[in-house]
Formats: sequence, structure tokens, C-alpha cells
Amino acid sequence: MLRFAIAGAGVAGSYLGNMLARRGHGVEIFEASRPESHWPVCAWGASRHMLSRFSEKAGLDFEKYILHVGKDLRMDLPRGKVEHLELRGLVTYDKHRWERDLMKGVEIKFGTKVTKESFPFEKYDYVLDCTGLHRTLLPRSKEDFLIPAYEYLLEGVRGEDEFYTIGYEGAKGYFWYFPLGEGRGYMGAGDVMKKYRGVDEFFVRHPEAKIVKKIGRPIRLAPPKRMEPFFEGNVVGVGESIGTVFPMLGEGIIPSLICCDIFLEVLDESTKQQGKKFDTKKYRKKVLDYFGYYDDVYRIVRLKMDGKLSTIRHANLLMSMYRHMKKEEQRFGFEVSLDKMNRLVNAL
Ligand SMILES: Cc1cc2nc3c(=O)[nH]c(=O)nc-3n(C[C@H](O)[C@H](O)[C@H](O)COP(=O)(O)OP(=O)(O)OC[C@H]3O[C@@H](n4cnc5c(N)ncnc54)[C@H](O)[C@@H]3O)c2cc1C
Repeated sequence: MLRFAIAGAGVAGSYLGNMLARRGHGVEIFEASRPESHWPVCAWGASRHMLSRFSEKAGLDFEKYILHVGKDLRMDLPRGKVEHLELRGLVTYDKHRWERDLMKGVEIKFGTKVTKESFPFEKYDYVLDCTGLHRTLLPRSKEDFLIPAYEYLLEGVRGEDEFYTIGYEGAKGYFWYFPLGEGRGYMGAGDVMKKYRGVDEFFVRHPEAKIVKKIGRPIRLAPPKRMEPFFEGNVVGVGESIGTVFPMLGEGIIPSLICCDIFLEVLDESTKQQGKKFDTKKYRKKVLDYFGYYDDVYRIVRLKMDGKLSTIRHANLLMSMYRHMKKEEQRFGFEVSLDKMNRLVNAL
């Protein structure tokens, strides 16, 4: 049995807390927010298929958390173009309740902001940095790249009952409305230029919308290849802290959970073979292998942002993104078509 401290009770921290406790390890979670204000800053959209699998492993029935099952995603594009994606499992779910339920029975200290200077690292075999964007316990990465974002939790919205996005010119970000059922939804935007087009227009179209919360934080787009080191002392990074976010969409729930499973797989193998020593080399390799193509996607996004993406010169990058996404269609929860992908890349 190993002793773990987990910094951060987001998707990675809460899932790992559950899964480590299940394996009989000692776990304490430290979360900066107070219990009454702890709220997942996220639009709560992800693939039902994948979340059902993770939930099952953690002893939860995902069907009980689903708020809205998407059928269609409308995407408004520059110059008046519009695309529709057929949804194949993209849902919104009650992420707040899901994370709370994952942590039932696990020791958690809310209102405890962990710092490098004051944390008692020696009390634990391993300390997992699951602080997401903050990466509090790991050194900064020189190649980090963040996109500013914020959103409103709304209620009383009428006539918006599907996923809706506006893609910004040059792939500099996008606006979203993700329905949560019964007139509730998350409306917001991530935008390198901080213009957040679509937000004011949404309020003009929906004067009936009532703001319940305004939340935000930047989203990390730099993938794992650019977010090393993953370790320092007995600290191991898991989740967005080491860049597990799909750069084209700023989508990090499923990638962070996949990263947790990689961590757990390596931990199980390591403890069987070497007792208490976690195989950091193997973890690093597996993370870099699995998320390797995120770097191609990241390069596409950055080239597009800089106005330098050429469908001919960068055809290999674009094909890599398409092939990987197609292979993992269920994991994304929407149709992946080469035609549509090309049209989108050209339209942005
Ligand atoms: C506005 C917005 C909308 C998004 N929408 C989606 C979406 O719809 N679908 C999707 O897949 N992804 C979405 N993402 C991305 C996704 O939410 C993240 O990538 C994912 O939650 C990362 O999980 P994590 O556990 O690594 O980090 P987080 O979920 O960010 O959790 C980090 C936790 O650490 C805590 N913490 C931070 N510093 C400290 C400290 N020093 N001490 C203790 N605790 C600390 C934080 O309070 C937080 O609870 C969105 C992101 C944003 C910002």
C-alpha cells in the first residue's frame, strides 16, 4: 500500500482519489476551493460512451448524471458559412455531482491551497499534481500555451436546445452554448484575442436568460510533449497539469481521465514488479506515446492562428489529426468526416 496526496479535486483528482482508494492505497485530497464554492469550471460536455466506461470502473452509473443527449452540433463559421456535425454520444452531464460522488469515502481537505514551499512532501510516497492549469507543484514549462476563456451558467433560456458553436477566424477560439436541460446551459467562449464574439449577441437574442454563475479560467492548449517535466521529487503530474487537452477543441475531460488510467496502469505494473517504486520512465513514455498526435493537432492550431497553415504543405499533419480522430470517433462523441474537417479548416 502506498500513501498518496492529491493536489486538486477536479476531474483527474477526484477520479484518481476514487481509484487509488479502491486499490487499498492511502489517499488524501487537498482542494484550494471551499466546499460551498468548489465548482468545476467547464461546460460539462463529453462523450457518454467514454464516461460510462470510467464511471463503471469507479462504481458509478453514468446514466444518472446525464443532463442532455446531443443530436446535432451547429457550427457558425466566418463569412456566413454553417456546418452541422451529427452527434454520436456527446452529452452534457452533472460534472459537479459526478466528481463529488467519486470522492465519497475519500479524505478530502477543502479550502487548502497547496504550495511548493509549505507542502509536507515527505509524508507521502507520491504527491499527484492534479491542479490543472496551475501546475502548482511542477516547474513551469517554457512552451506552455493558454487560451483565455470564461462562461455563464444560465437558466430560463428558451429555444436553444442543442449544442451550438461559433468558430472564430484563424482558429483563434470559439463561442459555445451547451444545453444542460430544462432551459439551463453553459454559454461562453475561449478566444486568444479576448473578443469573445457571440456572447453579447446571445444575451440580445435571449433577454429572458438569467445568469446563475459567471466563471472562467484559461484553458491549456500546449500538449504533453511541450509540458515536461511531468515529475519533480516525489511529485507526478496527471491531467491538464501536463497538457492533456485536445488542442483543437480545448476539450480536457476525457483526455485527463485517459491520463489517469495510464497512471493507474503503470502504478499497478510498478507495484507488482518493484514494490513501492512508481516507474516514472514508463509513465512518461506511455503519456508521450498516447498523446503524441496531440502535438500534430497543436501545430495545426498554432499554424492556423499565425495564418501559415497550408493544406498542401501540412497535409501530413492534417491527415494525422484525421486518422487519429476517426479511429477514436466514439471517444469524441461526434462524426469525424474528412470532407467536413477539410471544409472547417479552410473556412476558419
Ligand atoms: C470555461 C471552460 C470550459 C470547458 N469546457 C469543457 C468541456 O465542455 N468539455 C471538456 O472535455 N473540457 C472542457 N474544458 C476543459 C476541462 O474542463 C479541463 O481540461 C479538465 O477539467 C482538466 O481536469 P483536471 O482535473 O486536470 O483539472 P481541473 O478540472 O482544472 O481541476 C484542478 C483542481 O485543482 C484545484 N487547485 C488548483 N490549484 C490548487 C492548489 N494550489 N491547491 C489545491 N487545489 C488546487 C482547482 O480548484 C481545481 O479544483 C473546459 C475548460 C474551461 C476553462
